[in-house]
Amino acid sequence: MISDTLKKALHYQDWDTQVIHLSQQLDSVPGEIARIRESIAAEEAEIKRQQQEIASCELRRSQAELEIENLETQITRFKTQQITVKKTEEYEAFNEQIRNAEAKVSECEDTVLGILDEIDSKSGKLDADRKTCSERVAYLNGVIGDWEKKALSIASELKTASAALETAKIDVDPALMTSYTRLKSQGKRPPCIVPVRDQCCGGCHMRVSNDTLKKARMGELATCDQCSRILYVED
Ligand SMILES: [Zn+2]
Repeated sequence: MISDTLKKALHYQDWDTQVIHLSQQLDSVPGEIARIRESIAAEEAEIKRQQQEIASCELRRSQAELEIENLETQITRFKTQQITVKKTEEYEAFNEQIRNAEAKVSECEDTVLGILDEIDSKSGKLDADRKTCSERVAYLNGVIGDWEKKALSIASELKTASAALETAKIDVDPALMTSYTRLKSQGKRPPCIVPVRDQCCGGCHMRVSNDTLKKARMGELATCDQCSRILYVED
């Protein structure tokens, strides 16, 4: 049978278990929120990376365009100088330089076209990804909001459970409370007060002695021979 003393202790244990459970839930909230914030940061970093890639394309494009401008200035200069020369070989030498510069201009123009294509395709991807990212960030911020609401509700439940625990504590037999507190401080996996079933401890599942079983049956304070948990026999 379960004595009244033990029933009160079991009532206390129920609240204690509830307080532990709620505290663990509440403790896990900041970690959950931090993980979501990391996901948001990763989404945003990816968009920034793509923007930087496009900016670097733009830079290469303006470098190529500047190169074209320089080459064209050079060509104009060659042509001006060419008019002033008298010898055919000098005239031809300028022709050669002009042809080379024009070939380089054409190369640079191809480069610019290639970069423009690249910018086009990267911008298309960026627009699509930016849309997905902002939807995802909005969703994740919503999840953070849900966690914050959940934390408030857990905190309120915890307050109620802690008050109930304090009330239940008043009725617990002091000797039993000492044993219970000692078991908890030893880091025993809860619960500390467990039923005996098939002569086995409900905590460590080891067989208990006949004497211990007898004590538990009588409603006396009995503890497991192996793990020291407080035992009772269910009615
Ligand atoms: Zn045990």
